Amino acid sequence: MKPMRSLFLALSESEWLRQVTAGFGPARAMVRRFVAGEELVEAVAAVQQLDRQGILATAAHLGENVTSETEARDATNETLELIQAIAVNDLQSGISVKLTQLGLDMGPWLVTDNLQRVLARAEESDRFVRIDMESSAYVQATLDLFEEFWARYKNVGVVIQSYLYRSADDVARLIELGASVRLVKGAYDEPPEVAYPEKADTDANFIRLMEMLFSKEAQASGVYPAIATHDTKLIEWAKDHAQQQGISKERFEFQLLYGIRTGLQRDLVQEGYKVRAYVPYGQQWYPYFMRRLAERPANVLFLAQNLFRS
Ligand SMILES: Cc1cc2nc3c(=O)[nH]c(=O)nc-3n(C[C@H](O)[C@H](O)[C@H](O)COP(=O)(O)OP(=O)(O)OC[C@H]3O[C@@H](n4cnc5c(N)ncnc54)[C@H](O)[C@@H]3O)c2cc1C
Repeated sequence: MKPMRSLFLALSESEWLRQVTAGFGPARAMVRRFVAGEELVEAVAAVQQLDRQGILATAAHLGENVTSETEARDATNETLELIQAIAVNDLQSGISVKLTQLGLDMGPWLVTDNLQRVLARAEESDRFVRIDMESSAYVQATLDLFEEFWARYKNVGVVIQSYLYRSADDVARLIELGASVRLVKGAYDEPPEVAYPEKADTDANFIRLMEMLFSKEAQASGVYPAIATHDTKLIEWAKDHAQQQGISKERFEFQLLYGIRTGLQRDLVQEGYKVRAYVPYGQQWYPYFMRRLAERPANVLFLAQNLFRS
C-alpha cells in the first residue's frame, strides 16, 4: 500500500482535486469525521464535547505553506482568536500551529514575528502551544526556532517524527533542554535518504525514542513526553514501560487525532491516563484530510465505495 500512500500525499498538493473534493458530498461528509468544522465556533463545540468526556485538546486552525505575508498575518490573527476563544470559554485546551502557516517559507523574520505574537498571547492566557512538525525540509528550521523561543517561553513544545533517521539526535538535544516533546511516526512522503522506507523500522524507532523520552535522564531534566499514535501495540508498550520506570500517569500523556479511535481515547481516560485529542478546524482542511486518507487504505476504499454509489 506504500504507492497508495505516496499517491495520496502527492494529491494533497493538487488544487484541482481540492476543488473537486470540496464540491463532492460524500467526501465532505467524510471530512467531518476528521475535522471539527470550518468555523471557530465548531472547534469550540468539539472541544467542549471532549471536555465532557475528560479528554483534553490541542486545537489547530488548519492551513500550511502560505505564500504571502498577508496570508501569514491573517493566519496568525486567526490563531490569536482561537487562543482568545479557548480562554473565554475556559476550555481544557492548548493549540497547535504549523510554522509554514505563519510564514516560514517567506524567511525567518515573518515567522519569528508571528510566532512571538502567538506565544506571548498564549502565555498571557496560560495556554500551551505545540509546534507541529512538517516535512523534512522544515525540520531544522523548526527545531532552531523552537530552541530560540524555548529560551524565553516555557509554554511551547515541539514534535519529533520516528520515521526520520535524524530523530534520535534531535531527541537527545531536546532532553538536554528539558522540552515537551510530542512523538509521532510522521505523516509526509519522505525519500529513503532521510526516512525509513519500511513501517517496521519507523515503529522500532518509535520505541527507541520512547525509551529515550522515558529515561531517568529525560525525566530528571523535566522532559514531558506526549505519545501521539493510534497504534495500540505502541500505546501498550508506553504504558508498561512507564510503569516499570516508575513514571506516574501525570508525567506524560497520550495524544490522538480527532475522530480516530474514539473508543480507545475514552478507554485510556477510564484507565486514568491523560489523553489529548488534536482538534483541527478551518477552511484549509484539504491537505490534512488527504494525509488522513493516506494513512489508512480503508479510508480510501470507503470513499471510493461512496463515489461509485453516488
Ligand atoms: C495528536 C497527533 C498529532 C500529530 N502531529 C503530527 C505532526 O506534527 N507531524 C507529523 O508528521 N505527523 C503528525 N501526526 C500524524 C502521525 O505522524 C501519523 O501519520 C498518524 O498518527 C498515523 O500513525 P499512527 O501512529 O496512528 O500509526 P499507524 O500504524 O499508521 O496506525 C495504527 C492504527 O491506527 C488507526 N489509524 C491510523 N491512522 C488512521 C486514520 N487516518 N484513519 C483511521 N484510522 C487510523 C488504524 O487502525 C491503524 O491500524 C500526529 C498524530 C497525532 C495522533
